[in-house]
Amino acid sequence: MDKLWAPWRVKYVTTIVDKHKGCVFCRIKDETRKDRSNYVIHRGQHAFIVLNIYPYNNGHLMVIPYRHVNDTAKLNREERTELYDLIENIKVVLKKVMKCQGFNVGINLGKVAGAGFPGHVHVHIVPRWKGDVNFMPVTAQTKVISQSLKEVHKLLTDEYKKTY
Ligand SMILES: [Zn+2]
Repeated sequence: MDKLWAPWRVKYVTTIVDKHKGCVFCRIKDETRKDRSNYVIHRGQHAFIVLNIYPYNNGHLMVIPYRHVNDTAKLNREERTELYDLIENIKVVLKKVMKCQGFNVGINLGKVAGAGFPGHVHVHIVPRWKGDVNFMPVTAQTKVISQSLKEVHKLLTDEYKKTY
């Protein structure tokens, strides 16, 4: 059987792999037409907001700079400013939509600090309610999430557009 020889394709595949370096956040950043299936809530100029598909709690999401850097120290002023603006915006939206009463906002820098993807900085935002667990479950499987990601994504995306 003849094999299809497609050197252009090899180059294409290599380029894609190089560009993403296996980074899930860079992949989501580049997949601009898959925002719904990737659960992207909002795209800014320097950063975007996406639901965590392994949530610690309902509405657990991440604010992520587009640039693949492993430390917030490497972000320039514009990127930091927008990153923080998006954090504040999405807190307002989460409060409105999910009626949460508090948040855990956190950045894990480095593998030793617990970063799941240490190569690309991301800020976790976890909504909290009175009476939910007082500790972070180690794995997502230990906690029952009452709303589907799809449902939460739609609610948050609609509200974000309405508010900002
Ligand atoms: Zn990346």
